Amino acid sequence: MYQRNNRNNPYEVGPIRPPSESNSLLIRVSRNCPWNKCEFCPIYKRHPFEKRSIEDILKDIDAAKETHGDVFRTAFLQDANSLVLKTPDLLKVITHLKNRFPAVERVTSYARARTVARKTVDELKQLKEAGLSRLHVGLETGYDTLLVYMKKGMTADMAVDAGLRIKQSGISLCFYVIIGLGGQLRLENKETWKEHACETARVLNQVDPDYIRVRTLTIREGSPLFEKKQEGEFKRSCDADLVKEELLMLEHLDVTSQFVSDHSTNILMDIRGKFPEDKEKLIAIAKRYLALSEDEQMNFRMGTLFRFFGYSPNYRNFKDFFDLEKRAEMQTLLDKMEAEEPGSSRNLLLHLNNMLV
Ligand code: SF4
Repeated sequence: MYQRNNRNNPYEVGPIRPPSESNSLLIRVSRNCPWNKCEFCPIYKRHPFEKRSIEDILKDIDAAKETHGDVFRTAFLQDANSLVLKTPDLLKVITHLKNRFPAVERVTSYARARTVARKTVDELKQLKEAGLSRLHVGLETGYDTLLVYMKKGMTADMAVDAGLRIKQSGISLCFYVIIGLGGQLRLENKETWKEHACETARVLNQVDPDYIRVRTLTIREGSPLFEKKQEGEFKRSCDADLVKEELLMLEHLDVTSQFVSDHSTNILMDIRGKFPEDKEKLIAIAKRYLALSEDEQMNFRMGTLFRFFGYSPNYRNFKDFFDLEKRAEMQTLLDKMEAEEPGSSRNLLLHLNNMLV
């Protein structure tokens, strides 16, 4: 699962990076995921984890410099958990990267909370001093029961410990949360979505990360959760329930974080802003959506998905939906589809939702 030594790419590049790193230099320090068991994650399944030799990584950095010159301002270390490297090795990589790309101002990476918890604050500080600016950590949920169900391999306490260590070191921390992770499950005889929203807010409040990034659960083929969905064990929440869950989390948040919704899977990408000052504004957006009728919610979602897939008419954001001309145009299209084949608009919505990555 990697590319190397072709004309366009004379160094190895892994499959993913956060949306915020779309313009970054990508340097692959390990292959795939050393955990690889999360039920919702199809990315590295069937691909074994491998550490790369430091020599090869340094050579890749040199090849990247030769290919692109010193054009990058940001760099991202791949794949799923770069902190699995020994600290002296990672220091060598970051130092070489900064020497060869002096214009790079920000170096970031994904990291697992469990791995971070094994690093001392002093080691993290050394990494920060060498140039590691931010870690992207998948919290997914703060609800322990759901963490076990999803085989995340960590507890909420571990996430708190890892988050606080990162903050103490001065490295910027981005925690990822998955809206809808509990679907319609009832675990421990409780409504999982409520526990997920409240417990996640509790963990976020304890850590107060620099960034909270939300993405919405997609159930993709190749993930164990896809099998559970096929067998009827797991059911996705509907759009309105997803927003209800996000609203509950927002209401319980008491942080100073930047709340970011930059993923196409999210129903309301407008829910983004700085806490605490934007909290009420973000809550108001969720409430405004929930006050819409089912047909209006459907019209809005179709318009945002159309935007993503380059179809017309479409909505750039929630504000666009209140342009009555645009809304009427979308409604005419939906009505036409229904007149031709009842149920077809809902099927298309499902299909487009499933195509999101
Ligand atoms: S979610 Fe992250 S830690 Fe879990 S299997 Fe996927 S890449 Fe690995």
